[in-house]
Amino acid sequence: MIRSEVIKSLLPVFADHHVVCNIGLPSQELHLMGDKPTNFYMLGTMGLSSSIGLGVALAQKEKVISIDGDGSVLTNFGTLPTIANNVADNFILLIIDNGSYGSTGDQPTYAGMKTSLTAVATACGCENVIECQAEEAPATLQKAIDSNKMTVIVCKCESGNIKVPVITMDPVVIRDRFMKSLEARNA
Ligand SMILES: [Mg+2]
Repeated sequence: MIRSEVIKSLLPVFADHHVVCNIGLPSQELHLMGDKPTNFYMLGTMGLSSSIGLGVALAQKEKVISIDGDGSVLTNFGTLPTIANNVADNFILLIIDNGSYGSTGDQPTYAGMKTSLTAVATACGCENVIECQAEEAPATLQKAIDSNKMTVIVCKCESGNIKVPVITMDPVVIRDRFMKSLEARNA
């Protein structure tokens, strides 16, 4: 399975949860397959999906799922100790690890070589770190949601991309509808 197939398989599990999605193709795929106000698509700042998701989770009660990539986590390695030391049990970091920088042409990352993001997250102090294969992603994410414990999932999949259109929605609209949705749930 490639990332777009993993995201498609997760749509029923995302349901009406708030999802912060990594820049580039992951956001474009999620937008194409299941656009909704509860999705926050990053149109800039590579590497910060996990940081934004953690911040949103710490600031309010609703569950937040950050979809990140191996390349992005490698770009912002400081995110893992920050997550480990600022526990938010309404936060799930889902790293879709395809061993490549997918959005820039599938150049290999170190996560597909010697570096295990599962081991790094654990070494950083993250308490619930689960590595799964692509086919296991829906059940693994559902279990993490049901656990009500901050969880880091490293989902291993194959590299490869489908053709998807860019997101033309105004970033301000993306932000406003996401925030309104959160405010309504927290009211
Ligand atoms: Mg990747």
